[in-house]
Amino acid sequence: MSSVERKEFKFKVVLLGEGCVGKSSLVLRFVENKFSTRHLSTIQASFQNKTVQVDDCKAELHIWDTAGQEKYHALGPIYYRGSNGVLLVFDITDQRSFQKVKNWVLEIKTCLGKTTEILIVGNKIDLDDERQVSRQEAEAYAESEGALYMETSAQENRGISEAFEALTEKMIQHSRTTTS
Ligand code: GDP
Repeated sequence: MSSVERKEFKFKVVLLGEGCVGKSSLVLRFVENKFSTRHLSTIQASFQNKTVQVDDCKAELHIWDTAGQEKYHALGPIYYRGSNGVLLVFDITDQRSFQKVKNWVLEIKTCLGKTTEILIVGNKIDLDDERQVSRQEAEAYAESEGALYMETSAQENRGISEAFEALTEKMIQHSRTTTS
């Protein structure tokens, strides 16, 4: 290990998950602190940059959003390739979207092996009355896959910077262990 640790990083982060779970809303909230009740995927740009500070490290995140392509099954290795982190989103009020997460995890592991960190995000916690996926169930699944689990609300701006920061911290650790 080098005596001077790196403090500046650049990471590619991709958003994955079913349509309408709130992927674009999370990015819009995180990058611009805005929220819209419209389905954003078709109007939102696919790439955004944001710098995140974690302790004394600075990481420039290049965030790739699906721009609605998951509807057409058009996402492929070009989208994931070279990513350092994946934010895999489901809607806590939609059990089906959680089941789909399991397919995405398999796909990522097949395409990328252990080169990327996975953070599973249960979004829309403002709709807790309609919850279909318990935190315990999602946490246990994430742990079994070596992934992190966090919950968010893009509508109420809850947990979002924490989620991106936790993923960034994992990516920094990953990058240090693979380059030292
Ligand atoms: P995407 O297709 O996964 O990118 O989903 P969008 O970001 O376009 O969001 C789909 C719909 O869910 C839109 O109507 C959003 O306003 C709504 N939405 C997104 N996040 C939240 C949230 O945290 N809470 C609630 N109640 N609605 C949300």
